[in-house]
Amino acid sequence: MSSEKATAIVLRTIEFSETSSVVTLFTREFGKIRALAKGARRPKGPFESALDLLGLCRIVFLRKSSDTLDLLTEAKLERRFRPPGGNLSNLYAAYYVAELLNELTDDYDPHPELFDVADETLAALRTCSAAALALLRFELTALRVLGHLPSFETCVECGTAVEAAGRVPFSQLAGGVLCKRCRAGQKQVLLVSAGVLRVLAQLAGAEGDSWRRLELDRRTYGELRAIMNHYWAHLLGHQPRMHRYLGTLTT
Ligand SMILES: [Zn+2]
Repeated sequence: MSSEKATAIVLRTIEFSETSSVVTLFTREFGKIRALAKGARRPKGPFESALDLLGLCRIVFLRKSSDTLDLLTEAKLERRFRPPGGNLSNLYAAYYVAELLNELTDDYDPHPELFDVADETLAALRTCSAAALALLRFELTALRVLGHLPSFETCVECGTAVEAAGRVPFSQLAGGVLCKRCRAGQKQVLLVSAGVLRVLAQLAGAEGDSWRRLELDRRTYGELRAIMNHYWAHLLGHQPRMHRYLGTLTT
């Protein structure tokens, strides 16, 4: 059993007993961990209010060697998550970030880049600036980092470049655009406008901040949300709970 330090985002807390909680944390150093926080539910417990949902904290925990829960020994809140002016769209979007991190990542599988983008996204959702774009950027980074990014420019079946004009066939099953030849006979194909595909490719890019200069109108955002929501539902095998609330985010 070793003592570890980490920076963590609180994804979930569940009552465990009258005085304790089980917390799910996404840490920059170790990926997702689940830990028992003894005394967390006592009014003057050892963690005070550090284990606030979506909050960023510095933690110390004892890593257990077997299947049992880790044991949280310290937690210090660095930043609380509160949406601007109680904006519910931003709050639900932040819950959605936590939902995806919890569902997509495995215990002890660290992804520092994903952690940093999650942290930046929660910061954007606290201030309202470009919330819709920031959330899409998070989703596409998560897909890229975890190896699920669809192919937006070349045919997912045969690899030939697909002309980005008009509406382009996009296969949910194969995970990407299709050329004319490979389109035949495919099921679950959406027709996506070439402009939307360009925005998706730009948001998914690993480098630079150029995505921040993108401008989204409501219609494009609606189309982007539709394709992302379909893709996530297909990938996860169910519709994430927060999907229905994401359409109202500020673009
Ligand atoms: Zn093809």
